[in-house]
Amino acid sequence: MSSTIARKSRTATKTAAAPAKTRRAKAKSAPKVGFVSLGCPKALVDSERIITKLRAEGYAVAADYKGADVVVVNTCGFLNSAKQESLDAIGEAMAKNGRVIVTGCLGVEEARIRAEHPGVLAVTGPHQYEQVVSAVHDAVPPLHDPFVDLVPPEGLHLTPRHYAYLKISEGCNNRCSFCIIPSIRGDLASRPVGQVMAEAERLVKAGVKELLVISQDTSAYGLDIKYAESPWKGSPLKARFLDLSRALGDLGAWVRMHYVYPYPHVDDVIPLMAEGKILPYLDIPFQHASPQVLKAMRRPAHQEKTAERIRRWREVCPDLAVRSTFIVGFPGETDADFEMLLQWLKEAKLSRVGCFRYEHVDGAKANDLPGHVPAEVMDERWHRFMAVAQEVSRDVLATKLGRTIDVIVDEVDEEGALARSVWDAPEIDGSVFLNGETRVKAGDIVKAKVVHADEYDLWAELVG
Ligand code: SF4
Repeated sequence: MSSTIARKSRTATKTAAAPAKTRRAKAKSAPKVGFVSLGCPKALVDSERIITKLRAEGYAVAADYKGADVVVVNTCGFLNSAKQESLDAIGEAMAKNGRVIVTGCLGVEEARIRAEHPGVLAVTGPHQYEQVVSAVHDAVPPLHDPFVDLVPPEGLHLTPRHYAYLKISEGCNNRCSFCIIPSIRGDLASRPVGQVMAEAERLVKAGVKELLVISQDTSAYGLDIKYAESPWKGSPLKARFLDLSRALGDLGAWVRMHYVYPYPHVDDVIPLMAEGKILPYLDIPFQHASPQVLKAMRRPAHQEKTAERIRRWREVCPDLAVRSTFIVGFPGETDADFEMLLQWLKEAKLSRVGCFRYEHVDGAKANDLPGHVPAEVMDERWHRFMAVAQEVSRDVLATKLGRTIDVIVDEVDEEGALARSVWDAPEIDGSVFLNGETRVKAGDIVKAKVVHADEYDLWAELVG
């Protein structure tokens, strides 16, 4: 949902072209499809599914606009700025290629897309995989003999090989007043737990070292299917957040939980983090701390005393990192609400935070709320928030100095290795720099001693 993720997603999309390139000889006559994937990791997973299906049918992934027979643009429709970015991306694909299929969240606004870009070949909405694939068939027919052997059993991924997003459900039962996702993606629809586990196991067998669990509301997993059981490794397994966390933890990979809301049952998962079964990391989009603002936002679990909860979680798992996003300048936010937010941020000691200035989203209920905050006040609050967040993060990271920690290596070049700690998710959090270290490779999990820290990143030296 953040612009950072959107930018990174576009970068990640380029990596998907690599396998196509190395197999160029085999796939020479295969029709080529280009991909531009915007938006959140959930949209990225949608793109991966479409690519997997198309590759199974013999299509190749094009490395650039010029080499593509058709381009699929997977759009984001979360904020007005994201919609504009999506429209610009469609425009770029039209200008550089001219044969464009649009899918994703903005796809529900077909009239708007066609008004701006009348030449697009087809427009489909989120999760309409079959429609996207059939639009590709119409634009460039598939080969008669599918190259089924070109598709690895774990499917095709836009992320580097050592980590992968695992989507456990679609949609959301909440109705936050600033969000139109439920009207685009529908109510919560959980995947059967057997299917999720089978995908996770295939990924781990294929070399994935870190599973990033995503959805719109991860802790609500299974509610819609009444926590239905699936057989797993000879025993029944419930489609429930705790049971899924434990089963994923048994696969031997790092397991990182995103988009968790602080419902009471989240407490039960913290001991799994203390035992090292899953990573001591929770991504909880709190959005605010003032009860009045949270109520106006209609946030799930807004009545919870979250600072106190986090303190209790840390008694069980002292290493727990909580990352979050916030909105400043929400309609009706007073100076007192904002001061409460800053105070809460200091108390909760959140080391990783993102902050957005409130933005109108067409169709969102929050647009009609009274007390809109002037842009300059919003801006001033955003700067103050970021200054406090930086201070908190610096203090938290300083406590890691001298510790020997596990890190996962993301990249290596002649200057050294770029890694992450258990407290850092890819793309959104900080890094651990292993300067001069070239003996490791991407995906290695190694021990390193922290020798330096600043407000965002750590520097460490390999141990042993
Ligand atoms: S929890 Fe709220 S913000 Fe998140 S998708 Fe559901 S309605 Fe939107």
